[in-house]
Amino acid sequence: MIKNNKKILVIGAGFGGIASALRMRALGYDVTLIDRLSAIGGRAQVFNRGGFKHDAGPTVITAPFLFDELFELFDENREDYVEFRALDPWYRFYFHTGEQFDYRPSVEDTNKEIARFSPKDVKGYSRLLKASQAIYEIGFEKLSDKPFTKFWDMMAQIPSLIKLQSYFSVSGIVNKYIKHPLLRQAFSIHPLLVGGNPFSTTSIYALIHYLERRWGVFFAMGGTGKLVQSLYDLMNKNGVKIILDTDIAQIEVKNNKALGATSTDGRFFSADRIICNGDPPTVYSQMLPGEKNRSKRLFPEKLTQYSMGLYVLFFGTEKTYEDIAHHTIWMGPRYKELLSDIFDRKILADDFSLYVHRPTATDSSFAPDGCDSFYVLCPVPNLRADIDWDETGPILQERIINELSNTIMPDLKSVITDDFYMTPVDFKDDYRSMHGAGFSIAPIFLQSAWFRFHNRDPHIDNLYFAAAGAHPGAGIPGVLSSAKVVESLVIEDEKKQQS
Ligand SMILES: Cc1cc2nc3c(=O)[nH]c(=O)nc-3n(C[C@H](O)[C@H](O)[C@H](O)COP(=O)(O)OP(=O)(O)OC[C@H]3O[C@@H](n4cnc5c(N)ncnc54)[C@H](O)[C@@H]3O)c2cc1C
Repeated sequence: MIKNNKKILVIGAGFGGIASALRMRALGYDVTLIDRLSAIGGRAQVFNRGGFKHDAGPTVITAPFLFDELFELFDENREDYVEFRALDPWYRFYFHTGEQFDYRPSVEDTNKEIARFSPKDVKGYSRLLKASQAIYEIGFEKLSDKPFTKFWDMMAQIPSLIKLQSYFSVSGIVNKYIKHPLLRQAFSIHPLLVGGNPFSTTSIYALIHYLERRWGVFFAMGGTGKLVQSLYDLMNKNGVKIILDTDIAQIEVKNNKALGATSTDGRFFSADRIICNGDPPTVYSQMLPGEKNRSKRLFPEKLTQYSMGLYVLFFGTEKTYEDIAHHTIWMGPRYKELLSDIFDRKILADDFSLYVHRPTATDSSFAPDGCDSFYVLCPVPNLRADIDWDETGPILQERIINELSNTIMPDLKSVITDDFYMTPVDFKDDYRSMHGAGFSIAPIFLQSAWFRFHNRDPHIDNLYFAAAGAHPGAGIPGVLSSAKVVESLVIEDEKKQQS
């Protein structure tokens, strides 16, 4: 490894921070990774309660090559650390009509499922996949790991973005090809996985259909926590310094240069370059006070749209539910209107839709014998809404358990054990996420690419962002790509300094 005496400080040990730390270390920098929590992983924390294990955040692994690359930087194989197990079905949809739809790894099997609902939509799905592939080839392959730090970077891509009709929404594209109302829901939920309303998220995110087909959908055996532990081991082995339980209060800046950062307990960490993995709006408003009034994005905070909040209910069951797939999407009776309640009206409706995670479908290490481990994720308004979560948390828990007991999980009320939940308040307090949003700013067109937080600060040359709120966006593939963009900017900046 090339030695380089320069210091890089990475603030935040989510996947974007970890990937940045590894990439910088591979370039030979002296790298320190700091997080306020007691474990690395960011939203991918692990909770253990009463013999049940829970991944707190991401569970669906797509684009596995982005992880493989991190191990290859150090001539290692990811497979030697953690196994990615292919899933089938990828997702099982349960609709309020009682019907189920399995979204499966083979197109042929998926077509059979589609035909049970609407034979005509089989052709439509094939056209949707073609459209998704065209978006993927530009949106993912060409743009996701390229910087959009200059307006001209964006202008150069305008013809492609117009060609891809990225000013349309994901639902707009899906509805063009799919006609059955329930299948329209199933094929348009992807934006919710990155915090967006399918009816307003830029259609660039329709690339996820093809991304899944191209690379598959996996589960990290042992859980996402095992993947995080593997990355910890890789960092440790290769000399990344990891400092936990350390909250950065302020980034110190002089003459448009970041000098280092001070923690809440008064320690100063000097650095030649700083990479922020914390939520960009929080960094700018709370950790860079002098920068608050300098324009970082075209639109001010009050016009900024944030992703939804998440209510996540964790529990074990004293029996197993063999019919519940690893990833189950439980759809309530309303779709577009419910999403409007969450994103626009910002009210907590009586009904909901849920994502149910049952890791024990694939990996028995998550629960004692004869038991299952679950988390149920319910999209809710973020903290811009007027909701008292101390009061609402237990009420929502009861409603969710009732609905699941009455539908796909009979007897749940009598077999549930070791339950607890997280609300948007926990996302704000634990991860310093602005407005407790699950996925930072929303993935709408006017908050994407150059319009999103830039990967390098426009005024402070040695301050970078690899995070869900920066380009290209949320989700594990997004933040791992964000770290690749930062790497290319650091290389470019080093060259400039040397010339
Ligand atoms: C419940 C849930 C389920 C999800 N499921 C999936 C999924 O299945 N697949 C997928 O691809 N994506 C999923 N996502 C999205 C994905 O997890 C996130 O977009 C991604 O992990 C965010 O990574 P990040 O690098 O931006 O950092 P984060 O995970 O946001 O971590 C940032 C870290 O920075 C730390 N930090 C912040 N400020 C400071 C400070 N001042 N000082 C020190 N430390 C600080 C925080 O404590 C945190 O640890 C899910 C998200 C959630 C919440």
